[in-house]
Amino acid sequence: MDIKEHIRSIPDFPKPGINFYDISTLLRHPDAWQVTMGRLAKVVGGWRPDVLAGIESRGFLTAAPLALKLGCGFVMVRKRNKLPGATVRYDYDLEYGSDSIEIQADAVEPGQRVVVLDDLLATGGTANAAVQLFRKVGAEVVGVAAIVELNFLHGRDRLDVPVATLASYD
Ligand code: IMP
Repeated sequence: MDIKEHIRSIPDFPKPGINFYDISTLLRHPDAWQVTMGRLAKVVGGWRPDVLAGIESRGFLTAAPLALKLGCGFVMVRKRNKLPGATVRYDYDLEYGSDSIEIQADAVEPGQRVVVLDDLLATGGTANAAVQLFRKVGAEVVGVAAIVELNFLHGRDRLDVPVATLASYD
């Protein structure tokens, strides 16, 4: 199955000139979603993770079902001030301005093997921030995976861990 047939691109979202790759149509199609999860499970499982981390918000949709399938824990990586209790933050630069992501301070044990998941890899800035955040708490990041990759933004070049994606666009 070509999962690209279930991914659509929407022009001028969220801003004029941006082509937004939308996985809503993939999520709506149970067979295609099942195939997607199966393919991700194969590669991510090979990295022998203890924990799968989903980046808010579409990374939750990818990481949570995969964690159940692989028998791993699931951890939420969220925008600042969304998580209760003690948190650890990582600040990173964007093209214009900056952003922060957080995990709960006790989300992972030092040395645990973490895979970071999202729906899409663009510039790699978000995924790299998540990698750095887990390193900050002593975890070992063993890979980054996403459903879609925008090759022309060279996101994987920014990451110093193995990267796996299922559908790439030039
Ligand atoms: P990056 O940090 O530039 O790699 O951007 C990736 C982040 O932005 C991910 O969390 C994606 O969910 C989101 N994102 C960027 N472009 C798109 C898109 O075309 N479709 C869906 N999500 C996108």
